[in-house]
Amino acid sequence: MPEINLKELEKKWREYWEKEGIYKFDLKSPKKIYSVDTPPPTVSGEMHIGHACSYSQQDFLVRYKRMQGFNIFYPFGTDDNGLPTERLVEKTLGIKAKDMPRGDFIKICLEFLKKELPRFIQDWKNIGISCDWDIYYSTINEHSRKIAQWSFLDLYKKGRLYRKDAPAMWCPECKTGVAQVEAQDKEIDSTFNDIIFTAGKEKLTISTTRPEMLPACVAVFYNPSDKRYKKYKGKKAKVPLFNFEVPIMEDIRADPEKGTGLVMCCTFGDQTDMEWQKAHNLPIKMAISPEGTMTELAGELKGMKIKEARKTIIQKLKDAGLLTAQKPIKHVVNVHERCGTEIEFIKSKQWFVKYLDLKKDMLKWGKELKWHPDFMRHRYDNWVKGLQWDWLISNQRYFGIPFPVWYCKKCDTPILAEEESLPVDPIKDKPSVSSCPKCKSKEIVPETDILNTWFTSSMTPQLSTWLMPKNIQNKLFPMALRPQAHEIISFWLFNTMVKSHLHFNKNPWKHAVISGFVTLQGEKMSKSKGNVIRPQEVMDKYGADAIRYWAASSKLGEDFDYQEKDVLTGKKFITKILNAANFVFMNLQYQAKPTKLLETDRLFLIQLNKLIKESTEAFEDYNYSRAKLATDKFFWITFADNYLEIVKNRVYNGTNEEKASAFYTLYQAFLAILKLMAPITPFITEEIYYQHFKKHEKAKSIHNESWPIEIKIKSTKEDEKIWEKFIETITFVRQQKSKAQKSMKAEIILTIPKADQNILSKVIDDIKSVTSAKEIREGALSVAFI
Ligand SMILES: [Zn+2]
Ligand SMILES: [Zn+2]
Repeated sequence: MPEINLKELEKKWREYWEKEGIYKFDLKSPKKIYSVDTPPPTVSGEMHIGHACSYSQQDFLVRYKRMQGFNIFYPFGTDDNGLPTERLVEKTLGIKAKDMPRGDFIKICLEFLKKELPRFIQDWKNIGISCDWDIYYSTINEHSRKIAQWSFLDLYKKGRLYRKDAPAMWCPECKTGVAQVEAQDKEIDSTFNDIIFTAGKEKLTISTTRPEMLPACVAVFYNPSDKRYKKYKGKKAKVPLFNFEVPIMEDIRADPEKGTGLVMCCTFGDQTDMEWQKAHNLPIKMAISPEGTMTELAGELKGMKIKEARKTIIQKLKDAGLLTAQKPIKHVVNVHERCGTEIEFIKSKQWFVKYLDLKKDMLKWGKELKWHPDFMRHRYDNWVKGLQWDWLISNQRYFGIPFPVWYCKKCDTPILAEEESLPVDPIKDKPSVSSCPKCKSKEIVPETDILNTWFTSSMTPQLSTWLMPKNIQNKLFPMALRPQAHEIISFWLFNTMVKSHLHFNKNPWKHAVISGFVTLQGEKMSKSKGNVIRPQEVMDKYGADAIRYWAASSKLGEDFDYQEKDVLTGKKFITKILNAANFVFMNLQYQAKPTKLLETDRLFLIQLNKLIKESTEAFEDYNYSRAKLATDKFFWITFADNYLEIVKNRVYNGTNEEKASAFYTLYQAFLAILKLMAPITPFITEEIYYQHFKKHEKAKSIHNESWPIEIKIKSTKEDEKIWEKFIETITFVRQQKSKAQKSMKAEIILTIPKADQNILSKVIDDIKSVTSAKEIREGALSVAFI
C-alpha cells in the first residue's frame, strides 16, 4: 500500500472544518454551553513542544465534551502585550525602545505583530486545536484595552487601587517595577567579604555579599541574645572607606549564626533591610539608581554599574587593609523572571492592587475550584500563604495598555478617564475635565507608565466572553474550564481569580486542568542548552495526530519526557487503523441491526460495551490517557488480532445470516473505536469516518457526532467466562502453530477438555473456522497437525 501523505490529509481536514464551521460556537443552539478559558500563548516566535502537548491535552477534553452534546465556547487569543513582545521585537529587529520616540516604537511593535501573528497562530491550527477561530482576541487590541482600563476604573472605584512612592522591586535591566510573582529565586555563587567597621578604638568585623552597598549603610544590627555584642548597644559604628557613623542596634532578625553575627542594614539591600527601615524608622539612602548604576552617595563610584562597583570597593578595602577574609558561598537571590537580572529595591511611584488583606478569602476561593489533578491546589495555597506585597501593576515601559489616568501637575491628584471614553491613551487624549477637581490648576499631565501584562491577561474570561451578545454572556461566565500549565498558577490562574472576585464576587471557572512540563532526557528544554525539540519538525515527519497521540500518553499535571519512539507508536496506530479500515470495508456491506446476532458477535459487542463504559468514565474524570490506553489496547488486540481473525472466514464465505451478523458487528465496533479515538487523533478518524461512515450516519463530521453509548444487547453472567476461554483457546492454537513454524492457515485437529467444550458450545463453529480445525476432539488441550 502506498505511504499516505499525512500532511496533505491533515490540511484537507483543517480546511474542511473551517469551511463547514465544525467547531463554531452556536449562538442559537438550545444545547448546554461548555465554555473554555483558553490560554492565550505569548507571542514569542513559534509554538514549542510544551505548547503542543498542553494544548493537545485540553483539546482532548473539549472534543469529548463536544461529542457529549455540549455547545462549545472555545475561543483563541494571543498574549502580545507588554514586556515579552517588546523584548521579542527588540531582539528580532535589532532595535532598542529607548533609542526612539515612544510612539514610533509602539507602531513598530504593532506592525511586527500584524505580520507575525497569522504564522504564529497557524501552528495551533496545524496541531488540530478545535477552537472557534472567529472568537479571537489579542491582549493589545482595542477590545482588550477597553476591558483592561475598565478593570482599572472599577478597582479604583472599589477602593482596591493605590499609588505609592516607596521602595519597590525593580529590574535594573528592564528598568521597570516588578511584581512579586515576577521575581524568582535563583541560587548563585557569591562571596562573603569580612569587612572591618570600627566602634571607637575597637574593630567590628561584618560579613557581606554586597560591599557596594556600604554608602547606603544606615545601621548595624546584632541579635539581642548575642552576648558578644551587648556592650555596643547604643554606640556608633564607623563605615569603612566612607567614614560616616551609624547606630549599633538590636533586632531579632539578625542571625547570630550567620557570618560574625553582625549585619549591616542598607536601604535597600534586600527584603529584611526594608523591614528594618520601617521598624526602626531609619533614614532612606539610595545607593543604586533606576538605571542600575551607583548614585552620588557612592562618591567617586557614581555612575558605575553594580558589579563593577562591587569589584572596585573590594579592591579599595583590600588596599586599605580593611578586608580580612573572603569566603565563597552559594546563596539565593531574587531575579527578574523575564531576563534573569538580580532585582533591586528602588524608590519609585507605582500603582498597586490592594489584596494582602484577602489572603484568607483567596484560600477559600482556591478550595471552591475543582483542580485536576487535585494536588495542584497546594501550589496555589503556597503562593497565597507566601504573599508579602500588594500587586504592583505599573511598568515603566513602552508597549502595553496605558493607564486611563492623568494627574494634576501641582497637587498630584489623579484624574480618571470616563468609562464611556475607553479606551484612552492619556498621552494623546485629554481628560473630560479641564482643571484639577481639587486645586483647580489647569496643568494636567498624563500617566506615561503602562499596565503590567498580567493585569490584562487576568481578564481573559471577559476578553473572550464579552465578544458575545449580552444575553449569551451570562451563560458563559463563570466558565466551565480553565486549562493551563502549572508554572503559571501563581501568575495567570491566581491573578484571574483575584480579578474575578474583586469585580464580580465569584470564581471565574468551575474546573481547572493543569498540565505538566515536557522534558528531554529528564531536563527542561531551553534554547540556551540547545536541547529543544521543535513540534513543527515532528509534525512534518509524523503528522499532528502522532504528536497528539504522544501527548495523550501522559496524565494531566505530569512532567514527562519527549521520546521520538512514542510519537512513532502514534504513527503506527494511524497506519494500522487505516489498513484495518481498508480491509474491513473492502468486503463489508452496510447492515442495520440483524434479526439474529451470532453468539461470537454478541460476546465481542459485550467487550466493546465494556470499553465504551471505561473510556467514558475516564474522560468524565479528565483522564484522557486512561481512555486512550484502553481504546488503543482494544483496537490492537481485541479487535484486530482476535475479532477480525475470527470473522474473516464468515465475511468471505458465510451464509447471509452469518454475514449480516458479522457486518453489523464490524460496522458498530469500528465506528465506536473511531469515535473513542476522535478526540485524540482527529484527522485520521475524520478521514475514515468520511470515507466509510458518513453516508449512513449523516453527521458532517465525526467531531459533530455523538459520543458512543453502550449497544443494547442481552448479556448473561457466563459471557465473560466464555469470551475468555474463547480467546485463550485461539491464542493457544496460534502459539502452537508459530512454534511449529506452520502457517496460521495450517489445518489441525484440536483437542479441548470436555468442560471447556461445554463452555464454548455456542461459539464452536467460529473456533473451528479461526483455527482451521478439521475436527474437535475431547481431551487435554492440544493441537495436532494434519
Ligand atoms: Zn528584567
Ligand atoms: Zn491639583
